[in-house]
Amino acid sequence: MAMPRQIDKYLKDLIDDDRFAFYEQVADFAERRIAPRILGLERAHELVPQDLIKEMGELGLFGLPIGTEYDGQGGGQLELVLMGLALSYWSQSVAITPGAATSLGSKPLMLFGNEAQKREHLPDLANGRRMFVFGLSEPGRGSDAANPEVTAVRDGSHWVLRGEKCWSTNARWASHVVVHALTDPAGRRGHRSTCFIVPIDAPGVSYNEMGGKVVWRLSSTGSIAFDSVRVDDSAVLGAVNEGFKVMAMTLNGGRLFVASLAVGSTAFALDRVRAYAQEREQFDGKPIGRFQRVQDVVVDLDIALEQSLTWLLHLVRLYDENRLDREQAAKVKISISQRASELMLDAMEICGGVACLDEFGLMRHHEDLFVTRVGEGSNRALRTQIAQSLMPDIRAMLQ
Ligand SMILES: Cc1cc2nc3c(=O)[nH]c(=O)nc-3n(C[C@H](O)[C@H](O)[C@H](O)COP(=O)(O)OP(=O)(O)OC[C@H]3O[C@@H](n4cnc5c(N)ncnc54)[C@H](O)[C@@H]3O)c2cc1C
Repeated sequence: MAMPRQIDKYLKDLIDDDRFAFYEQVADFAERRIAPRILGLERAHELVPQDLIKEMGELGLFGLPIGTEYDGQGGGQLELVLMGLALSYWSQSVAITPGAATSLGSKPLMLFGNEAQKREHLPDLANGRRMFVFGLSEPGRGSDAANPEVTAVRDGSHWVLRGEKCWSTNARWASHVVVHALTDPAGRRGHRSTCFIVPIDAPGVSYNEMGGKVVWRLSSTGSIAFDSVRVDDSAVLGAVNEGFKVMAMTLNGGRLFVASLAVGSTAFALDRVRAYAQEREQFDGKPIGRFQRVQDVVVDLDIALEQSLTWLLHLVRLYDENRLDREQAAKVKISISQRASELMLDAMEICGGVACLDEFGLMRHHEDLFVTRVGEGSNRALRTQIAQSLMPDIRAMLQ
């Protein structure tokens, strides 16, 4: 794809020069270090290799939103989203590795940790020596996450955790898991659970990589079981019985990050398709890009890219100014992921059979875009939440 990336053109006008230089640095890394290897790694069914994780650590990507007082880069959600755009252009599953480590891993600690917990973990998280995973989903609890089946029961000065988390991104590389567990079964909905920081090597914790996953192929996705795991009060993150708040607040930023992955995929599809439509000749030795029905898809991708990027970066600013509400984060994730995945199929269709080849790249984005529709809150479940916020009488009726 010899043409300059269209996303760069839009980004230049949306962010300042320093931020654009940062984005270019990460995009250049992706072009040099990810693009040439992605196909081989996927065909070999490998996870993100250690050397890439190390290099991303050296670039400071694991410490982007962490304050400089904890050895982080002192950035915000904007830097995270720029990283998401730059890396996901080539691979969502590489992008989600530092993405989940920061936006789901470090974030709950940054938002709700006490000073001792921050001092203990944030410097190591910032430089990639530790990685936290986000333990919300369970085999029996996906959208109904406020009601965990994993329990934490008080036993003297300790808590005893039992049950299983699943779909835990980055489990392979985890040092700790933030476990959302039921602590007050009789409590009000949303006020019955507590979050605990649990070392992955604590006695009773076991991890298995989830097999058969054909999305985010390079990303580690694990199930983590807790067999009478004992932790003391220093492991409690946030307030007792307010664990769902920790998880829900974290997901606001996480949804913005997931939206950035969908935008990165759209950006890749646009460049791939406009290049191919000018090269591929059919009928009279002329390129297929002359057909208006092919042009429609190129233009739809371009419109989607510019609109999604502009909307997303506007909300990222609100988030960094503490002014974003959770419905806004949900809406942008729903809309961008749905539109991106629908347009990806159109993009593949106008390329014809070649789109079925892994080396062409669109199929990978097609698979990965599915995760952006169900991950960090399934789009349909989130719509229910938004509808209730628009119609408070209906919400009251259902409670
Ligand atoms: C690759 C991958 C990585 C993930 N990483 C993590 C992670 O790091 N940590 C973590 O905790 N979780 C993670 N998840 C889990 C993810 O957040 C859940 O898949 C998601 O919340 C949906 O839960 P579920 O899959 O159990 O679907 P379910 O809750 O079983 O829902 C199935 C479907 O039912 C419909 N539905 C459900 N509820 C409603 C409702 N209220 N209104 C309307 N429709 C509804 C929706 O269509 C939904 O898609 C990951 C998932 C994937 C696929």
